[in-house]
Amino acid sequence: MSQRVIVVGAGPVGLMLAGELKLGGADVIVYEKLAAPSGESRGLGFTRRTAEVLDQRGLLEKLGEFRWGRQGHFGGVRVDFDRVADRHYGVMGLAQSRTEELLGAWVEGLGVTVRRGCQVVNLRQDEESVTVVFEGPDGRDEDTASYLVGCDGGKSTVRGLAGIEFSVQPATRGIFLADVVGVELPMNPIGRHVDGGGMILSVNLGPGVSRIVVHEPDVPPHHGEQEPTFQEVADAWKRMTGDSIHHGDATWMAALTNAQGQAEQYRSGRVLLAGDAAHDHAPLAAQGVSTGLQDAVNLGWKLAAVVSGRAPEGLLDTYHAERHPVGQRLLRDTLAASLLYLSGAEMEPLRAVMRELAGLPAGARHLAGLVSGVDIRYEMGGGPQAVHPALGLRLSPDRRITVDGIVRRSAELLHRARGVLIAAEGTAYTADGWADRVDTVRGTWAADEDDDKPGALQLPDAVLVRPDGYVAWTSPDGGELEAALMRWFGTPAA
Ligand SMILES: Cc1cc2nc3c(=O)[nH]c(=O)nc-3n(C[C@H](O)[C@H](O)[C@H](O)COP(=O)(O)OP(=O)(O)OC[C@H]3O[C@@H](n4cnc5c(N)ncnc54)[C@H](O)[C@@H]3O)c2cc1C
Repeated sequence: MSQRVIVVGAGPVGLMLAGELKLGGADVIVYEKLAAPSGESRGLGFTRRTAEVLDQRGLLEKLGEFRWGRQGHFGGVRVDFDRVADRHYGVMGLAQSRTEELLGAWVEGLGVTVRRGCQVVNLRQDEESVTVVFEGPDGRDEDTASYLVGCDGGKSTVRGLAGIEFSVQPATRGIFLADVVGVELPMNPIGRHVDGGGMILSVNLGPGVSRIVVHEPDVPPHHGEQEPTFQEVADAWKRMTGDSIHHGDATWMAALTNAQGQAEQYRSGRVLLAGDAAHDHAPLAAQGVSTGLQDAVNLGWKLAAVVSGRAPEGLLDTYHAERHPVGQRLLRDTLAASLLYLSGAEMEPLRAVMRELAGLPAGARHLAGLVSGVDIRYEMGGGPQAVHPALGLRLSPDRRITVDGIVRRSAELLHRARGVLIAAEGTAYTADGWADRVDTVRGTWAADEDDDKPGALQLPDAVLVRPDGYVAWTSPDGGELEAALMRWFGTPAA
């Protein structure tokens, strides 16, 4: 089998995946229809878990200036992150174009080829390979690889060409978004309900620029693909707030709905989907970029291991098994959040109940986990003895380990996108047969400021961490180490 993988789409997800594949040793090429990045601001940050995923690859520190959002919300219901163990706050006020720039520079540095101005128009696959047909600057051409991943957005061409069903829930609400200049606006980052059922939101994007969101009750979701006019957006803002922004202008605008959909399968033979191509939804919970980047980090090391012949093909099936339920929950939560956010007074009793629940420790913990993504748990398949509470959860990148007298963050140990066996000094656990894929680190866990908070996880003597940061085995109570190594990293080297 060739080690070649084709990625379609150089949005944030395609770029992240390309980098992960390259780190895993695959030969990767990206085809992107746009001649240059769109530069659209779109997503304005990402969740805690996604920040952690970037941290694991040493990318967070390269993002430049951003701020952490200490307060979260679920459909406008505040969630106090400081009350719960673990750090749930996400990255705020960072235009998606900046995240894409960072990822673009990263993959370039890794030596990935991104062929811009190449629109994929057809594909075919057989037992051995997949071939993509594209229209490029020099006309129509083809390329062949072992696998192809469609990261080509919500209207994914790849999804249609691979015959993957997409179940859609139709829109019931619509919103305008605009990046407005030339107007001073009071900041309202969580949003405010307007008498009669509207909702408005405004966030500062930098000197002189504000992102606004307007929802009007009883206005049917905006039709079609067309960008709204600034007059339409400003009229809606005036109707909802009484204030005129007509003297300003917008650098970017969009009309969106709460329609959503999900691919029924994330894999069809040699074709896989990630990001919006796999799950498309309203940006009301600000989770699109985040979930897509995590798809990429879940898939990259597995696909690289399969094409490099280090792991059996069955490893790829865990991608759908792990990420499809995450996408399903994302759609459920986004719909729930959109109804809480964009409904009138009839929703107020339910909002009040949600506020009460968010005020209870267990409620705050549950909602914080949903919003931040740090509660995602995968089935690690270690059998009935595998019962440790850390199994299947991510290892926080902030956990510190003292190794040879030097304190290291666990994030650093994952920079190379390899597995890591972290074992206490004096224990005999080893991953020697897998040394080409798994690093062994001996050290001592340092105390963490969250250790005494309710719900804090006590770390075991030894953990096996997958390249995506999830705990695959623990000692005690994690099952057999060798079985876990075989399951996630294939047979040991001769
Ligand atoms: C108006 C708007 C506002 C948003 N706001 C937020 C927000 O606040 N927070 C948030 O988290 N998310 C937000 N999102 C969602 C977020 O932008 C997406 O979830 C994210 O861009 C998904 O990344 P992706 O890489 O999967 O797809 P995309 O970013 O859509 O990238 C797909 C890429 O594939 C390319 N492509 C498509 N078809 C082909 C083809 N046939 N051949 C070659 N290339 C192709 C496209 O040109 C594009 O570059 C918003 C989205 C929109 C539209």
